[in-house]
Amino acid sequence: MMPKWMGTGSSAKDAATAGDEELRMIPRWSMVLALVLFAGMQYIFHVVMPHHKHELLPLRLMMGYAWGSLVASYALLLGYVSRDVKRRGMSAGLWMLVCVLLPGGIGAVVYFLLRQPILSRCPNCSTTVAASYHYCPQCQFQMAPVCGECHRGVKLTDVFCTCCGHDLAQDGAPARLRVYSD
Ligand SMILES: [Zn+2]
Ligand SMILES: [Zn+2]
Repeated sequence: MMPKWMGTGSSAKDAATAGDEELRMIPRWSMVLALVLFAGMQYIFHVVMPHHKHELLPLRLMMGYAWGSLVASYALLLGYVSRDVKRRGMSAGLWMLVCVLLPGGIGAVVYFLLRQPILSRCPNCSTTVAASYHYCPQCQFQMAPVCGECHRGVKLTDVFCTCCGHDLAQDGAPARLRVYSD
């Protein structure tokens, strides 16, 4: 028999919404900045730079496009980081500075390596909780599926606990997964 909670939510749909949410993380100012920077690069390569040699036009087009997309993606990245720091409770000013000052996107790499997990709110008492928490520290609301015996985290699809071998079906899905049922 298949437990009721195994069939909840279509993963494809969840993935699509997650992707949309990540796209919404890019603020409008950084999209505008990206367009302006891209256009600025075309201006530099086609207007400011000497362009009397017509045989170099393909090269100029290519360089303009390459540099344009490079600076534009940099602007989008900065926009993403500026919003991402907020939902992780990290210092926005410090990390924006790191991303701008460290050259060649190294700052962004450092950021993605060191960033804290996303913070969320307890559905019951609105306390700020980290994604790794199994229970709310203030009201004991269950945030993630755990073993009813040893209280370590388990996967939704697990039948037995990987740590103590406890039969997870005995816990009763609604009790373990309060957070998924409502
Ligand atoms: Zn709570
Ligand atoms: Zn266990």
